[in-house]
Amino acid sequence: MASQPAALHAATIEDFTRNLATVNQKIAAAATAAGRDAGSVRLLPVTKTIDTDRLALAIAAGVDTLGENKVQEAQGKYEHFCEKFPHLRYAIIGPLQTNKAKFVAKFADEFHALDSLKLAETLQRRLELEDRTLEVFIQVNTSGEESKSGIQAGEAAGLLAGLAPLDRLKPVGLMTMAANTTDEASIRGSFSLLRETRDQLQQVAPDSFQHLSMGMSGDYELAIAEGATVVRVGQGIFGARTYPA
Ligand SMILES: *Cc1c(COP(=O)(O)O)cnc(C)c1O
Repeated sequence: MASQPAALHAATIEDFTRNLATVNQKIAAAATAAGRDAGSVRLLPVTKTIDTDRLALAIAAGVDTLGENKVQEAQGKYEHFCEKFPHLRYAIIGPLQTNKAKFVAKFADEFHALDSLKLAETLQRRLELEDRTLEVFIQVNTSGEESKSGIQAGEAAGLLAGLAPLDRLKPVGLMTMAANTTDEASIRGSFSLLRETRDQLQQVAPDSFQHLSMGMSGDYELAIAEGATVVRVGQGIFGARTYPA
């Protein structure tokens, strides 16, 4: 269960419709198995490396949010689709350098990798200029791997407190990535640490601070068992990525 084969390369609207239905069924089954409401988990499609031609097919099949880890790529897709599909949402899920905050402030609806107050303050200033708001998830490094971004769980309360005066940022929850391993106990340990951290923060956080963005194609069912409310799935919808993101 920790590692499932990515869906075959999807190239038609029918392929995307089928892959989306499969993922949605697995999400619903995992939620039900955990005693949770199927509607309590949102599928965030991860569209990084997917070109606009294929994306148009996925959008026709129902993809309504683009999850991207690189700001420039996300902005290119926003500019391509914003007039034709004004309903699309844009989620930046990868780490962000401060000098790119201005781009995110222009078009992104949600940012899943907030890891410093300095970045938050820069986003706030840029969002004021754009007269926009941004939903943010604080990214926590729950695997202990140095290659993973995010703050330590024990630092989340301090960062959340620092966000309070930044009225353009809407803190909605926490995000993490488990280690890329077949060791289910390690994966579940990451996800349960994120849930426990959220539960502690909820005593001091705004009501909106309830979401857990965790789980990717290989481990979203485990994440749902541990309480995920947003799962970020790319290859399960689009097929295996043949080149690195
Ligand atoms: C690429 C990516 C995902 C999705 O990974 P898949 O294996 O394609 O499901 C999820 N979250 C982040 C932060 C990513 O960069």
